[in-house]
Amino acid sequence: MALEPCTEVPAQASNLSPANAVLKERGQREVFCGLTGIVWLHRKMQDAFFLVVGSRTCAHLIQSAAGVMIFAEPRFGTAILGERDLAGLADANEELDRVVDQLLSRRPDIGTLFLVGSCPSEVIKLDLAKAAERLNHRFFPKVRILNYSGSGIETTFTQGEDACLGSMVPILPPSNDDSPSLMVVGSLADVVEDQFQRLFDKLGIGPVYFFPPRRAANLPPIGKGTKLLIAQPFLSDTVRSLVARGATLLPTTYPLGIAGTTAWLKTAADAWGIGSEIFDQAIAPSVSRAETALDRYRQVLTGRKAFLFPDSQLEIPLARFLARECGMDLVEVGTPYIDRLLMDREIALLPAGTMLSEGQDVEKQLDRCRQAKPDITVCGLGLANPLEAEGMATKWSIELVFSPIQGYEQAADLAELFARPLERRRRLAV
Ligand code: SF4
Repeated sequence: MALEPCTEVPAQASNLSPANAVLKERGQREVFCGLTGIVWLHRKMQDAFFLVVGSRTCAHLIQSAAGVMIFAEPRFGTAILGERDLAGLADANEELDRVVDQLLSRRPDIGTLFLVGSCPSEVIKLDLAKAAERLNHRFFPKVRILNYSGSGIETTFTQGEDACLGSMVPILPPSNDDSPSLMVVGSLADVVEDQFQRLFDKLGIGPVYFFPPRRAANLPPIGKGTKLLIAQPFLSDTVRSLVARGATLLPTTYPLGIAGTTAWLKTAADAWGIGSEIFDQAIAPSVSRAETALDRYRQVLTGRKAFLFPDSQLEIPLARFLARECGMDLVEVGTPYIDRLLMDREIALLPAGTMLSEGQDVEKQLDRCRQAKPDITVCGLGLANPLEAEGMATKWSIELVFSPIQGYEQAADLAELFARPLERRRRLAV
């Protein structure tokens, strides 16, 4: 086993209106694995390091997904399982301990180390939970060692964040009392977090904790008074674990677009008993700026057809935004799976009769897409290039996870992500 720091040059829909019946498909899928989450999580938690225990393929995946920016000290790397590890000739646990020793002696700034499992580590049944326990005996409290799986077997790439946050839930400190606090769950860009914090302050909502925190060592407390406001729709397991620790879920939409953000904030405001007049006053300047900024993109998008392939789990809230706030027609809204606990409010806001599909049989879905001739197709990288070659405009769904798109100030930026490829095509045609 060898340490390869990335040169970071680095179940179940129901209660749906009959108009929104779901087409369930099982077949070949085109999605990234959960390791991809490291790309945004390592930027979020600045004292954490993600050590993938995997193959060269895994190392290449996160390195290419992270792009080609140069940082002096990357916060992720891969402990490469060599042929001897895979053949059982070397003791993979001893090798892993040696790699962790090497890493932690070189990098005293690491406060939390995530051991991230992969398909190869699962195939050789390397027990990373036990490894984390063993290593914690040696390194805790200076370094806390956690583990989760980013394996691509039956997962989508955003589930990597769900698994990572889920691994942190058991170690969240219990609250001292049951007084109310708000926990915003799901990674948000720092700039978006700051905007929301200012709005919560204006509304008098607090204390507010963001999970994941900017430093993994600053874990938010949890208890009976914790109210959960979910910022990302792909955190099914994390949300259930938080609820099991006593927190209360505030069911709502997601903060995409102006209406989505207003409904999201209003849910928190209602939980704090804040009156409509104060609420409307607090959000009015942001809403007005966002309306003006969004207007120019609405003109480009209205009446255009969108087809969304299942990839990021953001598809349903995105489709709601594209239809209700940008005037787009939805041909098909595909999503890897529907968790009704987290998605019913969004589904209820889709236009009646929207075709929803869950899971994927990629060839059949491609046939439906070609036949519908949408103006824009939202899909993973693997499908985007061939579709572009066939003359179709595409938007990479992974870009929507990496970009700051939540909140009022980003509503126009989100619309622009869809308007830009259409505008480029129009100009090329002229
Ligand atoms: Fe490929 Fe599995 Fe490694 Fe992901 S975890 S890069 S799917 S081998």
